Amino acid sequence: MQENILTTLQSKFGFDSFRPGQQPVVEGLIAGFSCAAVFPTGGGKSLCYQLPALMLPGVTLVVSPLIALMKDQIDALAARDIVARRLDSTLSADEYRDVMDEVRSGQVKLLYVAPERFNNERFRESIRHVSIALFAVDEAHCISEWGHNFRPDYLKLAGFAREFKAQRILALTATATQKVLEDICRGFDIKPEHAVRTGFYRPNLTLLSEAVSEETKNERLSALLSERPPGPTIIYVTLQKTAESVAEILQQQGFAARFYHAGMKDEQRTETQEWFMNSDQGIVVATIAFGMGIDKSDIRYVYHYNLPKSLENYAQEIGRAGRDGKPSTCQLLASLDDMNVLENFVYGDTPSPDAVTGLISALFAQEPHFDLNLYAFSAQHDIRILVLRTLLTYLELDGYLQGGTPFYADYSFKPLMSSQEILQQFQGERRQFLGNLFKQAQKARSWFHIDPGAAAKVMNCNRERIILALDWLADHQMLELKVAGVRHRYSLLKKPDSAMALADQLYSRIIKREQAEIQRLQQVLEFVENYSCQTAMLAAHFDEKMEQACGHCGVCLNGKTALPPREAGIISENIKQQINRLIDEEGAQILQNSHVLARFLCGVSSPQLSKSKLTKHPLFSVLESVPFKQIQAFIDSIIQR
Ligand code: ADP
Ligand code: MG
Repeated sequence: MQENILTTLQSKFGFDSFRPGQQPVVEGLIAGFSCAAVFPTGGGKSLCYQLPALMLPGVTLVVSPLIALMKDQIDALAARDIVARRLDSTLSADEYRDVMDEVRSGQVKLLYVAPERFNNERFRESIRHVSIALFAVDEAHCISEWGHNFRPDYLKLAGFAREFKAQRILALTATATQKVLEDICRGFDIKPEHAVRTGFYRPNLTLLSEAVSEETKNERLSALLSERPPGPTIIYVTLQKTAESVAEILQQQGFAARFYHAGMKDEQRTETQEWFMNSDQGIVVATIAFGMGIDKSDIRYVYHYNLPKSLENYAQEIGRAGRDGKPSTCQLLASLDDMNVLENFVYGDTPSPDAVTGLISALFAQEPHFDLNLYAFSAQHDIRILVLRTLLTYLELDGYLQGGTPFYADYSFKPLMSSQEILQQFQGERRQFLGNLFKQAQKARSWFHIDPGAAAKVMNCNRERIILALDWLADHQMLELKVAGVRHRYSLLKKPDSAMALADQLYSRIIKREQAEIQRLQQVLEFVENYSCQTAMLAAHFDEKMEQACGHCGVCLNGKTALPPREAGIISENIKQQINRLIDEEGAQILQNSHVLARFLCGVSSPQLSKSKLTKHPLFSVLESVPFKQIQAFIDSIIQR
């Protein structure tokens, strides 16, 4: 090993030696190769870019989806005298400029950004002139459409890394199957020999699963919690309402339990998280929203109250247990009743073929440069927002569209002094400009509203000047500023030869993804119904072959778990008649579409269903407990009647 690498590790980071996998990655990067690091959470991935960042000339750009984690890392680096900065949406215009000045002057060694940052043209312009020694992508599995957490913005990152001439790339993730790792390597042009994977198997985790019926689940859960010595515990559930109801039941039984999900206010979430971090017996009943930022080493138990939606999710969730290396238990309470909800999530994302065709014709009927409110567009075409963004990204990658900097259409401000007092601080043309600007604003109660685009037209100036002026006044405490109504800009680069063919192609891509998701659920079932060592099976899913059974998982200890077969749902004659009547009704015309009808019956909302208030209809979700495929078969039978 190079002498200076070890010296830097010791002097700058205070570590005696490398952890598994770190050394080949750091050395590979320093030698100029792009690398991938697949280490379990807590394995020390960050060091793989932090150390080279100090040794390479130029800046290291770290792309990470989590603002909260960025803050923690930057503080930790500051304590080691390493200059790191972040660019996120909370920075004011002045702060942004200061950071970019420091980056250009070479003071900043690490710059953290969220993947969406690359959609910003101003950022793209300024970063173009900076020498990027290393482009590090955290949570790199998000690039893969076949991974469990696909994010459309990630798909464009490889292109940006090339465009900005990043000298090398580091892709980091805790969970990647072989297929996903191949996607990552292909996307970022990483040679297979530079992809470093460390051991997945963690001997201190005991994996248990058992079949539990819906009716006895709560009883079983509290029995398990009582019979085991208390310790920090996470109980994962699928739905927000389940998190709340289970936490309440446990509280009533005297457990120190709280719930956590994405539907809570930020302060409430922070409070619960902090409570848990400082507790040695706390139980958090949570959806998957709880986890990414949790760095607690002594979590003793992770329960799955519902089936996880993939083995990757499962691995990540149980991976939070026992980071201190002490024995910890992960137990899954399996019931096939969970499958309906999980399947509905998947099928509910799939838009109807008509919706995709409608989207394509609307897009290519636009002006060469246009902008969209994605939420309105999503509602208009009945395509969920994430799916819409995915489709737009496909079109960008295939060269039909190019995305530009998003902007806000609605600015509101509240003067913190009278407009006279503000104007008095300026002279000549500037004073006149601001005076005119204030005249363009419409007063509500204490807030004024202004559409900078429209105001720019009237005032015959460019929009940018208006934004700068408002930002400046806000930075100088003369007014308070709020923005809303984000709009996304696009340019049409080319038209498809056939809009129909393009829509078909996109639609089949969506169906392929849907099938992959369903396949993932199937793998969870196979895992739960496993007849051999569960630890070995999970390791094999992540391409690690265990020489022998672990000896301490549920199957090794107690033998196999068999789930009672999944029951077919019942659609009564009475319900059938009501549904028939409903689709003949005038007002329910959108239910003529079999796709929309299926979602309606199983209780999956879509932009159109909620807009037309059909989600409040008594028959909405009437077939909630019937598997989706069975609902589809039923619909086919009534449509052919
Ligand atoms: P990951 O991103 O893989 O989840 P982190 O980069 O957050 O993991 O590292 C987890 C912990 O391990 C951190 O507290 C970090 O300081 C520590 N760590 C990393 N590398 C080493 C090392 N070589 N020796 C000792 N501790 C290390
Ligand atoms: Mg990390």
